Amino acid sequence: MLDFLGDLRRTHMCGALRASDAGKKAVLMGWVNRRRDHGNLLFIDLRDRTGVSQIVFNAERDGVIHAKAGALRNEYVIAVIGTVKLRDPNTINPNMPTGEVELVAEELRILNESKLPPFLPSDTALTNEETRLKYRYIDLRRDVMQFNIETRHKVAKAIRDYLSAQGFFEIETPFMTRSTPEGARDYLVPSRVQPGTFYALPQSPQMFKQILMISGFDKYFQIVRCFRDEDLRADRQPEFTQIDLEMTYPQPERVWEVVEGFLTAAFKAAGSEIKTPFPRMDYDEAVRLYGIDKPDLRLPAFIDIRDCFTPENLQELAINANLPVIAIRTPNVGELSRKERDDIKPMFHSKGGAKLFEDFKRIGNKFPDAAAAIAERTGMEESDLIVLIAASSPGSSAQAGPQTALPAPPLPVHRKVTPQELAIYASAGLLRLALAQKYSDRHGIFKKTGDPAKDFRFLWVTNFPMFEWDEGEKRWNAAHHPFTSPHEEDMPKLESGVESLNDPQSPLSSVRALAYDVVLNGTELGSGSIRIHRQDIQSKIFRALGMTDEEARARFGFFLEALEYGTPPHGGIALGLDRIVMILTGAESLREVIPFPKTARAVDLMVDAPTPVSEAQLKELGIAVKK
Ligand code: ASP
Repeated sequence: MLDFLGDLRRTHMCGALRASDAGKKAVLMGWVNRRRDHGNLLFIDLRDRTGVSQIVFNAERDGVIHAKAGALRNEYVIAVIGTVKLRDPNTINPNMPTGEVELVAEELRILNESKLPPFLPSDTALTNEETRLKYRYIDLRRDVMQFNIETRHKVAKAIRDYLSAQGFFEIETPFMTRSTPEGARDYLVPSRVQPGTFYALPQSPQMFKQILMISGFDKYFQIVRCFRDEDLRADRQPEFTQIDLEMTYPQPERVWEVVEGFLTAAFKAAGSEIKTPFPRMDYDEAVRLYGIDKPDLRLPAFIDIRDCFTPENLQELAINANLPVIAIRTPNVGELSRKERDDIKPMFHSKGGAKLFEDFKRIGNKFPDAAAAIAERTGMEESDLIVLIAASSPGSSAQAGPQTALPAPPLPVHRKVTPQELAIYASAGLLRLALAQKYSDRHGIFKKTGDPAKDFRFLWVTNFPMFEWDEGEKRWNAAHHPFTSPHEEDMPKLESGVESLNDPQSPLSSVRALAYDVVLNGTELGSGSIRIHRQDIQSKIFRALGMTDEEARARFGFFLEALEYGTPPHGGIALGLDRIVMILTGAESLREVIPFPKTARAVDLMVDAPTPVSEAQLKELGIAVKK
């Protein structure tokens, strides 16, 4: 027989009782986390989101209630009225905040039973993820998940409070809308009223937030769900949450100040201090120093050691002296065995003739002067690993490494970096990260699994290339999105560039965008830009992207028209909330910080979505499904 709650009110949360409460009456409610039966004494650990309290049912005190408690099983929901009592000194549990006291039960109401769950929230060993996702309601009872979701709440609240105090309005934008310009596939929603037409779920509120600036709202933000139908490589979710903002009349630095401000507040809410302002780096510099546009600053940058060798050395090594010779230093790796050295080779993926000379030692034996110069230039310690990446000299018989496609998306070419140089930088950039990962136990720079990061190295990467050459299509794509403003100084190149649209050497290749990314420990947290506010420039960008006026009007007509009605200069950014919370909690994947995530196959295992729908529903929508 189950009891009703009646008018019983909880006096304390399960994590709240302390020694100072001894002697007080208390009413606790929660789940049975664990039961221990010692004959006349039955102990229940009662759990809610704040913690656990020990309840004692004593047969000598009250045989009836002790007998009733005997029916309790894991995850039953109960209410207990009792008196708080100090534990005997030898039973105090210093690992529990409530460990000095226990509640002596005087009345028990069994509010609900539970089937035996497939796993228990108190289990220390984790069940497989599929089971966790299917029974997400049980999984979310685990204290780690409760902590992650609580942190998520605190972070979002701190950001809301900060931005509101800075004069930003939180304004909602529609979910049922039309295709937005972020470049992924859309999720579509069929219209019943107008069969054959579809809404698209927003990949971002990009056009709406720009229109809010045109409408005079001055500063907008939204913590908003975005939808992108991408192949779910690695750690992505088809729906994810962005901290999206836009403001009028900003320089990029003004947007950065706002972001640094809300991140400081968010990290503080999660118990971490960060330093502002964040360092800033041009895209070109990031590529030259790290071979990637989201450098992890916790690891040393590349060093070009070309001039540590004499021209004769380079010739003998069949190294192309006209291209960078890069030393990658991985700190504190210690002496490597022959086998460990061999294992480096398959970690290297060469693009465009970059070659790995991993054997600094061998080079040292043969070219002691060069080795000494390299050691000095890189500031290497005895225990550091140095590997060299260079291009083979033209026509040399030296084999370049295996020619594999880059496992990461290729970087856009830009003015100061030639495609040949880029190939070397990008190949070296990937190897730098792979080595750091492989030896992370030894250098200890990365967090241990499950530990929240402590060393937060933020960075602004700026002045991205405006356009990316698409070798397959032989045309230029927008590197960010087509509403991003070119650098004011580069406008003339845009003018001349639109005359040579199908040429990878077009002046378009050196147009910089007023675009920026915020990066944390090698992860891109967000991107943004100053936008185009003039219709004449917007038209040129569409032309540069190979879109005719008609095509542009068909896709973004309403927006282009809005631009013509007094659009102020404006700009903004969007940051991934899930990613920020993941870093702050030390979670292993985005799924650990999203209450109801989808699998890598975009399936929600708990509700079992997506599902087929009935013939009647399809008919109403005017849709026929091809089998
Ligand atoms: N809408 C962009 C994105 O989602 C961000 C921005 O430019 O504000 O990547």
